[in-house]
Amino acid sequence: MEESNKHITWQGENCLLCKYFVPNDVINADLLERGKCAHPSLVRFNLVVSGRDWCNLFSKMSDQRRDKLLEEAFKRDDEQLKRLTEESKKPGNFDQ
Ligand code: SF4
Repeated sequence: MEESNKHITWQGENCLLCKYFVPNDVINADLLERGKCAHPSLVRFNLVVSGRDWCNLFSKMSDQRRDKLLEEAFKRDDEQLKRLTEESKKPGNFDQ
C-alpha cells in the first residue's frame, strides 16, 4: 500500500505553490481558489486553474514573489476600502 502512494504529489506541487499561479483572491487563496496560469507556454490557453490543480511545468514560488503578491493585494484591498467608505457616505448610493 505504501509503495503505491509513493508518487502522489497532489498537496506538494500544485498550482497554489507554483510561481505561475495568479489567484483571483491573493489574500485568501487556498487549494480551492481559482485563478489563471501565467506559464509562458500555457498562458495563451487562458486556463482557469484551482489551487489544487497541477501540471508537469510546476515551478515553486519563491518567498519573495509571494510577499510581493501579498503586498500588492493588501494595497489594492486598502484602496477598495477607501473607495467603499467614500461611497457609503453618499445618501442613497446603494439604492440605484
Ligand atoms: S498549471 Fe502548471 S504551470 Fe500553471 S500554475 Fe498550475 S502548476 Fe503552475
